[in-house]
Amino acid sequence: MPGRELVCTCEDVTRSDVEKAIQHGHTDMESVKRYTGFGTGICQGRGCMSQVAGLLHRQGAPAERLFPTTPRSPLQPTELGQLAVGGELPPLFPGPQAPATLPPPSMPPAPVALEPLPERAEVVIIGGGIMGLATAYHLAKNGITDVVVLERAYINSGASGRNGGGIREQWSTEQNVLLMNESIRICSEFAVELGINVWLRQGGYLFVTNKPEQMAAIERNVALQNRLGVPTRILKPQEATQIVPDLNTQDLLGACYNPDDGTLFPWPFLWGYANGAKAKGAKIITFTAVTGIDIEAGRVTGVVTERGRIKCNLIINAAAAWAPEIGRLAGVTFPNKPERHEILVTESLKPFLKPLVSELGTGLYFSQSGRGEIVGGLGDPEEPEGVEMRSSLRFAVRMSRALVNRIPRLAHVKVLRQWAGCYDRTPDGNPILGYVDEVKGFFQVHGFVGHGFMMAPAVSKYVGLYLAKGQEHSIFKDNRAARFKEAGTNRAETLIIG
Ligand SMILES: Cc1cc2nc3c(=O)[nH]c(=O)nc-3n(C[C@H](O)[C@H](O)[C@H](O)COP(=O)(O)OP(=O)(O)OC[C@H]3O[C@@H](n4cnc5c(N)ncnc54)[C@H](O)[C@@H]3O)c2cc1C
Repeated sequence: MPGRELVCTCEDVTRSDVEKAIQHGHTDMESVKRYTGFGTGICQGRGCMSQVAGLLHRQGAPAERLFPTTPRSPLQPTELGQLAVGGELPPLFPGPQAPATLPPPSMPPAPVALEPLPERAEVVIIGGGIMGLATAYHLAKNGITDVVVLERAYINSGASGRNGGGIREQWSTEQNVLLMNESIRICSEFAVELGINVWLRQGGYLFVTNKPEQMAAIERNVALQNRLGVPTRILKPQEATQIVPDLNTQDLLGACYNPDDGTLFPWPFLWGYANGAKAKGAKIITFTAVTGIDIEAGRVTGVVTERGRIKCNLIINAAAAWAPEIGRLAGVTFPNKPERHEILVTESLKPFLKPLVSELGTGLYFSQSGRGEIVGGLGDPEEPEGVEMRSSLRFAVRMSRALVNRIPRLAHVKVLRQWAGCYDRTPDGNPILGYVDEVKGFFQVHGFVGHGFMMAPAVSKYVGLYLAKGQEHSIFKDNRAARFKEAGTNRAETLIIG
């Protein structure tokens, strides 16, 4: 086609796509990559990375700010069957360092021009992940428009840009089933409200198990879900193969399936909330880390950043894996523990897998994206606590073994990329929401473990209504930080993947 200059041949990304991304404010390599999809195909970015760097450089970004981008394994597309080799597992980390002793993961350098900081704001939100951005949107929608979101890197740099995009109503507590029922409704109307396609696909979630105690949990959970109107049904292993014909059911005891669950593509969700919040007057300021919190007479009076101070009387901590660190800046201790979770993506296949499949007990999960790739992860019981976002060969091997065991025909499919993000794990699997007792004006929205993406649409809506309109909701009382110090408030969520 005349005038159509391809930059990334695998993903059909043109020069004009990249230029449009830059015009939309994506002025660093990682943000442009997320916006256009360049570098995510079978050549693993070998052809296009330098071309995009050149285009960014011509827009004014100095070369030293463009490289290196995050190195990604495997070095070349590798078949799952080759990775699923037997024998001893590779170590968790290549060297002797444990993550707690490592410096924080390096973030890509800032683009050239950064937005100036306002002197004051009514609300400052720390963290530009889904929680921070969706909260900014709902505050602005409900009349609090003088909101600043501070993000230390780029949009989608935290767990929100690194997750599996799974959304489900299958939970073990009534509150979470109802919240997710609301969230799925919001997701299905997202394009209408925020004008962006999030590729929502309701292919269901199929949980399978080979453990009697998990089968008993399935029966309890399905009874709860059915009572709340969720159409989950229990399946015999043979019935599960009617939904996933390629499933290896040899060792399975049973399964459960809810057709309303599904997957979506996380990145546009964040852009949608960010654009929606900006359109209503909120400011989203990236590449600006919060380094301190000002407190006078027991109340917050401002945030300190690497680029100056913003005075404010309300701070929302939406920093997920870094939330305890933000808590420490205000002298408040939270029990959340960051924990690495790894995930990988394969080359694209003709669509064959409708639901997201998850194995209870091992934490294996996988689904097929709208582009045909298999996307999936697997928790590691040996993973130590700590903010760690490097990828490991150990994960690639464990994941490939588990995946090929469950769907043997995937053995010849090639892994293209793997990456990692952090769960933000609380002792009872539920988030920390609301004001803390120790400091006035310090509001919490974190601790969502491995399910914060799907919870964000509903939770942020209630945060907006609570802070702007004073509307109470049981989530704030039930999930207050103080619950961990009180006896008899244990209502743990047990249906956690990974
Ligand atoms: C591999 C993996 C798979 C997952 N799969 C799913 C799934 O299928 N479904 C689902 O619902 N959830 C899933 N999750 C969990 C989900 O991604 C998170 O719960 C959710 O994204 C949390 O959103 P957040 O906005 O709270 O956190 P984040 O997206 O991590 O945002 C927090 C932000 O705070 C910023 N920040 C930190 N410190 C500072 C500072 N000092 N100053 C300024 N900014 C700061 C960070 O840079 C970050 O961008 C998964 C997570 C992982 C890691």
